[in-house]
Amino acid sequence: MALAHDAAMGRFDFWKGALLTAVVAGVGLIIGRFTVRLLVRPLEQFREGLAAVREGRLTPIPVNRTSDEMAFLGESFNRMIEQLSASQQEVRRHQELLEQRIRERTEALEVAMKRALAASEAKSEFLANVSHELRTPMSGLLGMLDILLDGDLRAEQRDQVETAQNCANSLLALLNDILDHSKIEAGKMILEQIPFDPRGLLEECVKALAGQARKKGIEVRCELGDDVPASAVGDPLRIRQIVNNLLNNAVKFTERGWVRLAASAQAGDDGVTLTIAVEDTGVGIPEEKLGTIFEKFTQADGSTSRRYGGTGLGLAITQRLVTMHGGRIEVESEAGRGATFRVTVLLGKAGSTAAAQGAEPRLRSQGSLQVLVVEDNLVNQRVITALLKKNGYAFTVACNGVEALAALEQGEFGLVLMDVQMPVMDGLEATRRIRQRARWRHLPVVAMTAHAMTGDRDRCLQSGMNAYLAKPVNAAQLMGMVDSYLRMSTAQPLPLREPKAKAPTPINEKLAAQRLGSHPALLQGMQQLFLEFAPEQVQRLKLAAGRRDTGALEREAGQVRTAAEHISATQVEKCASEIAAAAAVGRLEQVQADIGRLEQELTRLSDRVAGQATGEPSTATAGD
Ligand code: ADP
Repeated sequence: MALAHDAAMGRFDFWKGALLTAVVAGVGLIIGRFTVRLLVRPLEQFREGLAAVREGRLTPIPVNRTSDEMAFLGESFNRMIEQLSASQQEVRRHQELLEQRIRERTEALEVAMKRALAASEAKSEFLANVSHELRTPMSGLLGMLDILLDGDLRAEQRDQVETAQNCANSLLALLNDILDHSKIEAGKMILEQIPFDPRGLLEECVKALAGQARKKGIEVRCELGDDVPASAVGDPLRIRQIVNNLLNNAVKFTERGWVRLAASAQAGDDGVTLTIAVEDTGVGIPEEKLGTIFEKFTQADGSTSRRYGGTGLGLAITQRLVTMHGGRIEVESEAGRGATFRVTVLLGKAGSTAAAQGAEPRLRSQGSLQVLVVEDNLVNQRVITALLKKNGYAFTVACNGVEALAALEQGEFGLVLMDVQMPVMDGLEATRRIRQRARWRHLPVVAMTAHAMTGDRDRCLQSGMNAYLAKPVNAAQLMGMVDSYLRMSTAQPLPLREPKAKAPTPINEKLAAQRLGSHPALLQGMQQLFLEFAPEQVQRLKLAAGRRDTGALEREAGQVRTAAEHISATQVEKCASEIAAAAAVGRLEQVQADIGRLEQELTRLSDRVAGQATGEPSTATAGD
C-alpha cells in the first residue's frame, strides 16, 4: 500500500490504492485458477478414478498433456487400469472355461450315475429273478433228496444221493451267500424279533456239524454256560447263520484236533448279551491277515480257495449280521496254532412272552393245532408236507388264497405257511383278508417265497405276515419256525377269548359322545378307517423294533396315538403312548411287550366296532 501513498501530496491516494488492490486480486485469481487446473483437478480425477476402481469400474481418467509429474501420474494410473482390465478379462475367460468344464463334468456324472443306478437296479432285479428261478428247482431237488434218503437205499445208492445232497447244499450255500450279501448291500436285510430257544439252537448247530467233523477225525465240543437262556427273542435264522458260518470255517480249516463252541450269557436291563466263542486247532491265520479277513471276497491265503473252497463272503456277512444284532466279532489267531472267533449278540428277554417258553416240549406232544400249508407248486407241497409229517405235525394243504380262507373257516389252525405267488389269490391278498377277520388277527402267517430281493420281505410283513422264510425252505429253519409259532399259539390264548368285561372298554364312550356324539356315523366311519390302517402301522412298528430304530418307533407310535385319540380309543392310545415312551429311553424289550398289548387292544377295538356295526349291545361303562 506504500505505492498508493502520494509522496508529492503527502497523503494516501485512494484511487491509486484501489487500482493496486484490483491488480493484486486479479493476479491472485489467475494464479489460483492455474493452481486448480494444474494440481487440484488432476488430484480430484485421481480420487474419482480410485473410487471407481474400488467399485469395480476400470475406466481411465482424463489426463492433461502437460508433461509434468501430474500427467505422468495420470498416464501411469491409466496404464495400470488397462492392465487390470486385461487381467480381469483373462480371469473371467478362465472362470467361464472352468464353469463350462464343471457343467460338462456334472452332466457326465449325472449320466454316469443314472446309468450306474439303472445297472444296480437291473442287477438287483436280475438277482431276484435268478434267485427265484434257481431257488424253486433247488427247493424241489433238496426236498426230494431228503425224502429219498429217508427211504430204503442200498449203501452205494445212499452214498450217491448223499454226494448229490452235499453238492446241492454247497450250491445253495453259495447262492444264499451271494443273495445275502446283495441284500445287505441294498439295505434290505431286516432282522426278525421272534421267540426262540438259544440253547437248543446252539446245540443243533454243533450237532449238524458233528458228522462232517467226525469224517475228518475232528472232535466237536459244545460247552454252554448255565446262564445261556432256553428262551429269548431275536432272529434265530440269522443267529444260526452266524454260528454256522463260524463252525463251518472252524471245521473247514482244521485238519486235526478239535473244534469247540462255548457260550455264555449276561442278562441286562435291555436284554441278554449272548457271547459265543468258536475255537479250533486248525491252520490259523497269520497276524498280518487278521485285519482283512472280514472284508468281502477276502481270504487269508491265496491258496485257500483252491484248497478249501469258499468265496470269502462268509465272514463279511457274519460281521454285518453281528453288527445288526448290536454285537461285535473278534478274532484271535496265530498261523499254525488255530483260531478263536468270539461274537456277542444282543437278544431280547423272553420275559413274560409266553411264546418263548422254549424249554417246553414240542407241540406234537401237546397238541391239536395244525399247520395250513398254502402252496400251489406240487413239488414244494410234497417237500413241506414230508418235512411236517417227518416231524410229527398235522397239516392241511391249500393251493391258493381262496382255498386257504375256506380251510381256515373249517379247521382250527395254529400256523399258516403261505406261498406268495399263487394263482386265483396270491399270498399277500390272502393274508390281508385273514387280518381283516378279528378271529384270525393273531393267527401266525409265515411267508414262503423264492423272491429274496426287491423289498419282498417288507411287502410280506406289510400285508400282515409275521415272518418270512426264503425258499428253498431249509428243513431246520422251517421246523424252528413251525415249532416256535405253534408253541406260541398254544401257550398264549388268543386275546379274543379273554373275558371282555374285566378289561376297560376299548372306546371311551363318554369322550366319544362329547367329541362326535352328534355324528355317530362319522365316528364309526373314522373307527373303521383307523382299523383298516392299524395292521399296517403295527407292522411298521414291528419292523422299526426289529431294526432297533427308536426314532421310527417314537414317530410311528406317535401317529397311532394321535389317530386313536381322535376316535377316543383310549386303550390303544395308552399302549401307543407307552411304546413311544419306552422307545424314547431305548427300552426295546418293553417296546416289544407293548406292541403285543397294542395288537390285543386293536383286536378288542375291532370286535367292539364290529359289534357296533351289527348292533351288538355295548359293554362300555360311562365312567370309562
Ligand atoms: P471263505 O471261508 O468262504 O473263504 P470267509 O469270509 O468265511 O470266506 O473267511 C475268510 C477267510 O478267513 C478264509 O478264506 C480263511 O482264510 C480265513 N478263516 C476264516 N475262518 C478261519 C479259521 N477258523 N481258521 C483259519 N482261517 C480262517
